[in-house]
Amino acid sequence: MTTTTRADRAAGALLGLACGDAAGVPYEFASAPYDPQRGPEMIGGGLGPYAPGEWSDDTQMALCIARVAASETPIDSEEGLDAIAQGFLDWMREGASDVGTQTRQVLGALQADDDGPGLGARMTALSAELHARSGRTAGNGALMRTAPVALAFLEDPERTARAARLIAELTHADPLAGDSCVLWCEAIRRTIVDGVQGRPEDGFGLLPPERRSAWAALADGTWREAALAPNGFTVTALYAALRSIERASAARDSAFRTGIAAAVALGDDTDTIAAITGSLLGAWTGAEEIPAQWVDAVHGWPGEDGPGLVELAYAITR
Ligand SMILES: [Mg+2]
Repeated sequence: MTTTTRADRAAGALLGLACGDAAGVPYEFASAPYDPQRGPEMIGGGLGPYAPGEWSDDTQMALCIARVAASETPIDSEEGLDAIAQGFLDWMREGASDVGTQTRQVLGALQADDDGPGLGARMTALSAELHARSGRTAGNGALMRTAPVALAFLEDPERTARAARLIAELTHADPLAGDSCVLWCEAIRRTIVDGVQGRPEDGFGLLPPERRSAWAALADGTWREAALAPNGFTVTALYAALRSIERASAARDSAFRTGIAAAVALGDDTDTIAAITGSLLGAWTGAEEIPAQWVDAVHGWPGEDGPGLVELAYAITR
């Protein structure tokens, strides 16, 4: 796997996210029966219902981040967060097919006149209010869309971590959600830069010291004994994706397809677990290793396709 180029690994992160998402869509919460002998197939359906090869909210929201990351505006600036927040709102108003519970609660609380400067801060405040009120905002909806953040500041782990948390907090104020994004982005960033298989525990040093104990199971390996379902929780979602990647690493060939199949086989939130898995696994295998049949089939809001994602990854990392 050391023959991949940096550009190919960056493209693999976005393409892997989208291909995992679209391959997991048909089986989300058992919308269609999954046959492990056949493996995941991009037959559409799911909760959308989606067309064959169409990606869902995971990739749609990730593209809101990726588009700003590819622009002149830094994603961690006030203007950048405003632009990402505006992307999320436009996405929902344009008829997003499938919106997560917490994301819907936060975006739904914004009014039409909330648009414009300061939107990011208003969204973050509403997200914090929701957390203060419910205490339950550690869904996997921030982790599922975080991959493009890892491409934005490839040479700067601290800045990547800060951006990952800020963007998570737009909708998911629970520190566990932010932590999971920091850890996953660092694994992707390291994989792209060093050409090694980065792991989420590589990012421990980027978590505030008081947050590290929440992730002790990752450090000591006991996460492998943890339940992987329900995986709507950001912690079990991260474990489930990591388990799927370990399965892929053990495979002799077709590592990407093996990892996505392992993610879908876990059931439950299949598109999201496969999307998270695909983002790190695709960075490791590189875009070239992702089955061409999948790359040709993937597409979705806002009018993007596989080659478009590759171009977007190049634009972000250039
Ligand atoms: Mg989805």
